[in-house]
Amino acid sequence: MKFRSDFPLPDVVWEPTREFWAAAAEGRLVIPRCEACRRLAWYPDGICRACGEKQFAWTPVSGRGRLFSWSVVRRAFIPQFEAMVPFVTGLVTLDEDPAVRLVTLVVDCDMDALRADQPVHAVFRPLAFAGIERVMAPMFTPDLE
Ligand SMILES: [Zn+2]
Repeated sequence: MKFRSDFPLPDVVWEPTREFWAAAAEGRLVIPRCEACRRLAWYPDGICRACGEKQFAWTPVSGRGRLFSWSVVRRAFIPQFEAMVPFVTGLVTLDEDPAVRLVTLVVDCDMDALRADQPVHAVFRPLAFAGIERVMAPMFTPDLE
């Protein structure tokens, strides 16, 4: 298998998600909102699954959500992850619309104490891997109990 030279960083110039990464670099979480039915549309694949519209406006959201599912990664499956393990990948639903589920990292947490539906909020941290540049990314951390 051949990887991009900067893999596993996200492609921040790919048009469908460029605004997402640009906002993240400024510490803001934005999601496309359908111009016709006003629903949040994620993942941004160019067409609203609710109504078929193709026009969207990038919309700031609170960054508050709930932990829908997660997995603790204890073994690096590519060399770039070796310095990160163990880490938690998660699926987080947004409070604005629980149908929006973001694939993310869950950080600053007791990984053995995570529970389903736990309130979480966005934090912005650099994705940094050995030998490649950084990209600021939204991640999530549990709310204080
Ligand atoms: Zn729509």
